[in-house]
Amino acid sequence: NTTPKSSRVVVIGLGRFGGALALELAERGSEVLALDADSRLVQQYADDLTYTAIADTTDVETLRQLGVPDFHRAVVAIGDLEASILTTSLLVDFEVPHIWAKAVSAEHARILRRIGAHHVVQPEHDMGERVAHLVTGRMLDYIEFEDDYAIVKTLAPAEAANLPLSESNLRVKYGITVVGIKRPGEGFTYATPETVLHRNDILIVSGRSGDVEKFADLT
Ligand code: ADP
Repeated sequence: NTTPKSSRVVVIGLGRFGGALALELAERGSEVLALDADSRLVQQYADDLTYTAIADTTDVETLRQLGVPDFHRAVVAIGDLEASILTTSLLVDFEVPHIWAKAVSAEHARILRRIGAHHVVQPEHDMGERVAHLVTGRMLDYIEFEDDYAIVKTLAPAEAANLPLSESNLRVKYGITVVGIKRPGEGFTYATPETVLHRNDILIVSGRSGDVEKFADLT
């Protein structure tokens, strides 16, 4: 078996989140072991994933027999609190080095972190926050990083139109950096000081969250 350990992932729970995640991993070339207690779901994914098994993952012997302790990466995608916590704690006991877990609430997230999950995601909460930024402003996409830094996709405001970036002074005035730019019918290109923006060009802009939001609100 020549697959590097880093690209072998065990995905536990094949609901909407775990299922989509497992398929994307497989698509990107990972070897995926997918486990779910529901035989119907396991059958549904069997053709597209490397290994699938029907399993109650709260049982330590079951996990051992399936070779789960040998994996370097695991994702727990179970919404049920008890099953999620029990499964995650077994992976922590196995000392799986990279454990990702899905939480359905802030309390669930806190417990998962407390018992030793390395990465906790709250898909509905996080996506809700992200979409909020898109609903009210002119932003087309928004990614915020932990340290209050964001990258957004937005439209060029009127005041920056028909000027090279070196003259519109956006970095000084708004504290943002234009990283990339896309014109209708063309791909993205990196922005340079000579790049002349046109009104409603699509821009990729980075900076502190508050600053990029203010910039994206300009029309
Ligand atoms: P989503 O909201 O992403 O659709 P759910 O939390 O509803 O996800 O689904 C989680 C999946 O986890 C379900 O398919 C369920 O069968 C599975 N699951 C729940 N408990 C266990 C368990 N003890 N062992 C294995 N799989 C489980």
